[in-house]
Amino acid sequence: MSTLETPIQHIPAQTAKKPANSIKLVDEAQAKTNLLGMTQAQLADYFKSIGEKPFRATQVIKWIYQHGVTDFEQMTNLSKSLRDKLSAHACVTPPKVIHRQYSDDGTRKWVFEVTGGSLVETVLIPADDSKLNGRKTLCISSQVGCALDCSFCSTGKQGFERDLTPAEIIGQLWVANASYMSDNNDSLENVDHSLWENNVTNVVMMGMGEPLLNYKPVVGSMELMLSDHAYGLSKRRVTLSTSGVVPKMYQLAQDIDVALAISLHAPNDELRNELVPINKKYPLDELIAAAKNYVYDVNPRHKKHVTIEYVMLDGVNDSNEHAHQLVALLKDLPSKINLIPFNPFPHAPYDKSSNNRIHAFSDILSQAGFVCTIRQTRGDDIDAACGQLVGQVADRTRRSAAWQQSIKDRETI
Ligand code: SAH
Ligand code: SF4
Repeated sequence: MSTLETPIQHIPAQTAKKPANSIKLVDEAQAKTNLLGMTQAQLADYFKSIGEKPFRATQVIKWIYQHGVTDFEQMTNLSKSLRDKLSAHACVTPPKVIHRQYSDDGTRKWVFEVTGGSLVETVLIPADDSKLNGRKTLCISSQVGCALDCSFCSTGKQGFERDLTPAEIIGQLWVANASYMSDNNDSLENVDHSLWENNVTNVVMMGMGEPLLNYKPVVGSMELMLSDHAYGLSKRRVTLSTSGVVPKMYQLAQDIDVALAISLHAPNDELRNELVPINKKYPLDELIAAAKNYVYDVNPRHKKHVTIEYVMLDGVNDSNEHAHQLVALLKDLPSKINLIPFNPFPHAPYDKSSNNRIHAFSDILSQAGFVCTIRQTRGDDIDAACGQLVGQVADRTRRSAAWQQSIKDRETI
């Protein structure tokens, strides 16, 4: 294995001499208002609440996201008195990195410890195709664990612990960008912030958790991704993936214009009820109607299609018959289909479909006129492939132990 692993140094909060622009520790965020993750409107309200002009929000947002500055002292277009006031009452605190791994293929993974001690993972996957011109896609988590319990998903088996805060969500992107600016991203001491460059080009909300079940923090974070004052990513480069929380899909259509991916995984209700249990609440006809609404009703110029994610499970959902059912189901929905080879995890009740099966399935979709891609699995050497984000993350709900026991019980019957 040719992985470069960088150990993280722990500096005790009380004794550490703080470098000029170190990433501040989480306990400081608890005593002060963390400005990281506040939308432009929220930050304007904050400035009003401390007796300052709302336009300060734009200045501070630019410092945080376009220059990577977390120390108010370095925000030189703010008056000294405002800088002092902010230093006393506010902070810009990303989640704490406790582990990072950089793979030789350019994939990077971080494990964050978020307030309360929970762990979440974030993965950055660079395109290996030179035509894609340096594309770097960050896969962001929205929750610790997930309540929806899809049968093929290791995060689902972990159970739900809690929602991430806006700072913990956008902080994943902040840290990923910071990692390109410094060899040791615990300290940006020697970084020239005027030369700061954000390297992440694409974001997918496909890490741990169901983003539509942590709606406001996720939408607020995506606003910052799109905002010209913050990351300025194009709406096609920010993708929200959902397993189908139908009412929230309608709300999303009202609130923000980003790319939408739907974790479909089955072409009929009977099978989808088994693989994606939220289907029992919002069955396929409701899900497809909500997807159509998103494509057609919001901003027809930008919503040309949704991406359909379909995990390929050997002998479960990968027959020719399933492919034909999928063609019929999607006939009126402008969609591109992404076939995902199943990423196995310990005690998973499925196997990955063979390459031949995946290609035969893909051919049926292509012949019916769909654009169909097969997802490359990347970062295998650091256990970073999507759907494997549980890694070394502790299972604090003990649900996976219960689940593994139930598998063992079944095996012994
Ligand atoms: N909760 C959201 C987003 C996170 S999951 C959703 O379900 O869409 C991101 C993607 O990884 C989803 O398409 C999910 O179905 C897929 N996935 C989960 N576990 C997987 C596994 N073991 N192998 C392959 N893909 C998996
Ligand atoms: Fe949750 Fe998505 Fe995993 Fe389903 S696939 S359990 S919705 S994270």
